[in-house]
Amino acid sequence: MTARNVLVTGGNRGIGLAIAVAMRDAGHHVVVMSRSGEAPEDLEAVAGDVSDTASVDAAFSAAEAKFGGPVEVVVANAGITKDGLLMRMPDADFDAVIDTNLAGSFRCARRASAGMIKKRFGRLVFVSSVVGLYGGPGQTNYSASKSGLVGLARSITRELGGRGITANVVAPGFIETDMTAELPEDRQKAYKAAIPAGRFATPAEVAAAVVFLASDDAAYISGAVIPVDGGLGMGH
Ligand code: NDP
Repeated sequence: MTARNVLVTGGNRGIGLAIAVAMRDAGHHVVVMSRSGEAPEDLEAVAGDVSDTASVDAAFSAAEAKFGGPVEVVVANAGITKDGLLMRMPDADFDAVIDTNLAGSFRCARRASAGMIKKRFGRLVFVSSVVGLYGGPGQTNYSASKSGLVGLARSITRELGGRGITANVVAPGFIETDMTAELPEDRQKAYKAAIPAGRFATPAEVAAAVVFLASDDAAYISGAVIPVDGGLGMGH
C-alpha cells in the first residue's frame, strides 16, 4: 500500500468525514476542505469554497504545504441541495447547486491535474448520487449536477487516462445521516421497501468504495460509476 496525499472536499462532516477517516485509517495523509475549515476527529483541515476558483487554488496550496507535495487523490464530495418543483425553481437555486456540485468538482479536478500529470499518478473520485441517474422529483438541479459528474469523470479518463490518472464516480443511495434519520417512520419504511438490500447504507460503506478506488489495486478502473445503493439503481 502506498500512502497518498488525499484531499476530501466537504470532509468535515457526514459522508465526507467518513471518507476522510477511512482514508486516514488506510494509512493515507488526509486533509479535509470545507467553507468553515473545521478540523474534526484530529484531521488536518483547510478552508476553501469549491464555488470559487481562487479559494480552491488557495485551499489546494495550503493542503500541499501541509503534505510537502502535490495532492495525489481528490475526493470531490462537497455538495448541496436546493430542492423545488421545476415550475417554481428560481434560476439562483438551479445555478447554485450546479456551481457547487458539478463546477466545484471540475475546479478541484482542474487544480489537481497539473500535479497529477507531473507525478504520472492521480485518483479523482466524484461523489454523485443514485438520483443522478435515477432522477428525483423536485431535484432537477441536484440530479443534473450529479449526472454531470459522470460526463466529467469519463472525459477526464479519456484525456488523462494515459498519465496514470483515473477518474471515477461513486453513486450513494440512501445513507444513514441526520437527513434520513429525520424522515417520518412511514417514509423510511416505504424507501426501505424499494431498496433490494432492505436498509439504508452507513457512511462507512460509501467510504469503503472510495478507499478502494483510490488504491493502487484500482489502477485499471476508470470512467466507472460505482453504485453504493443496496441495489436501488440496479447498477444503473
Ligand atoms: P452534508 O450536508 O452533511 O455535508 C456537506 C459538506 O460539503 C460539508 O462538509 C460542507 O461544509 C461542504 N460544502 C458545502 N458546500 C461547499 C462549498 N461551496 N465549498 C466547500 N465545501 C462545501 O452532506 P452529506 O454528507 O449528506 O453528503 C455528502 C455528499 O454525498 C454530497 O455530495 C451529497 O450530494 C452526496 N450524497 C448524499 C446522500 C445522503 O443520503 N446524505 C446520498 C447520496 C449522495 P461547509 O458547510 O463547512 O462548507
